[in-house]
Amino acid sequence: MSKAIVSSLYDSDVFKMACRQFDLAADAINLPEDIRDRTKYPQRCLAVALPIKRDNETVTVFEGYRVQHNLHTGPGKGGIRFHPGVTLGEVAALAMWMSWKCSLAGLPYGGAKGGVIVDPRLLSAGELERLARRYMQEIAPFIGPHIDVPAPDLGTNETMMGWMMDTYSSHIGRNEPAVVTGKPIALGGSQGRREATGAGVAYLVKRYLEDMNIPIAGATIVIQGFGNVGGETALALSAYGAKIIAVSDYTTGIYNRGGVDVKKALAYVQTQRVLQDFDGGEPITNAQLLALDCTVLVPAALERVITPEVAAGLRCRLLAEAANGPTTFDADKILDQRDDIELIPDVLCNAGGVIVSYFEWLQNLQNFYWDRDEVMQKLFVVLERAKNSVEYQKRKFKFSRRLAAQTLGIQRVAEAKRSRGLSA
Ligand code: NAD
Repeated sequence: MSKAIVSSLYDSDVFKMACRQFDLAADAINLPEDIRDRTKYPQRCLAVALPIKRDNETVTVFEGYRVQHNLHTGPGKGGIRFHPGVTLGEVAALAMWMSWKCSLAGLPYGGAKGGVIVDPRLLSAGELERLARRYMQEIAPFIGPHIDVPAPDLGTNETMMGWMMDTYSSHIGRNEPAVVTGKPIALGGSQGRREATGAGVAYLVKRYLEDMNIPIAGATIVIQGFGNVGGETALALSAYGAKIIAVSDYTTGIYNRGGVDVKKALAYVQTQRVLQDFDGGEPITNAQLLALDCTVLVPAALERVITPEVAAGLRCRLLAEAANGPTTFDADKILDQRDDIELIPDVLCNAGGVIVSYFEWLQNLQNFYWDRDEVMQKLFVVLERAKNSVEYQKRKFKFSRRLAAQTLGIQRVAEAKRSRGLSA
């Protein structure tokens, strides 16, 4: 019988949510007691203080984290988030989901995640660069191509990955592109990585709509979040012939039943940074956006936006979780009862990002680079395999699709831990 002696270190709503999901999955597959807590709780975490010089010559100290949830199935893998709402508990929950996601996709990685408590929009470009470099400098002894490999997430991008790779390389005294993924192509980034998460979301939406006998041409799509993932998902779904009827960011939502011009909206955001005052449709709130009548709803911003109230009011046929953890544990119970809505759970839906990150890491280690078609083709093969395994598990055990995906992810991690045994 195992018994965890757990501190309040990770205490937060989102970590509790990830733990409740784990407990449900562990019960569903009768995971032996003596392996549960070892599989559930993060293996290691690091908190760092990040002093940077501001443009006005004062010094501000930011706080950052890196959590390695599991290092027993390969190096840790997971993005770095720059957001004012970051907490150690949130980073731990995101790291836990990375473990299940990598495992489900069959990638030779464990799960990890990083975060800095900062609103990047309030920093100048120079301040942001100093903070990104300082963060890498502090976590450098804790990570590495065969230990833990970061990538972009909310509030970070490929330029910042380039700075971080440069800082790490300077730290060890040689070029080391494989230490982060999602880098600029010129620094060893992979073709297709920037669009990989959105392209993967769009591919799975297309495949699930096929299963539901709904043509993608003309399907109506609503997307919350218009950053890397939301923007690329919109582009890829438009290319499949779907109609994007609403998009949003933290400032506003834009609704246009005739179809939002995605390229125009992306060009607007490139110059204005936000969707506010974009004239391609009528403004709506994020709450109104989530309740729109549509074929597919894609939350692609923050976690815990689909609450029980929102779940009860959803008017989509397919909910495609591009964001990590967008649906609360209690909202999930409501979705389970709604036969009118199919769900693509986050650990499957947004796995395209980490899959192409894996391809980038492989290319860096081999110094042998692939073209975009090869990357995309391989991405869809891995996603198709993961989808098939989820559908098989769902049918076999009569699980919800989330439970099917999570149990598959958890099983492999638990099996690796059991096989390795306990040292000392
Ligand atoms: P991003 O920073 O590029 O974009 C985030 C978008 O969400 C922005 O448009 C922002 O304005 C919007 N947003 C923020 N707060 C909001 C709010 N309260 N209401 C509505 N919109 C809001 O981040 P991203 O990389 O696109 O990540 C989005 C989500 O996808 C996150 O949950 C992230 O963990 C997940 N994800 C990202 C990747 C990746 O490769 N970048 C991979 C897998 C999962």
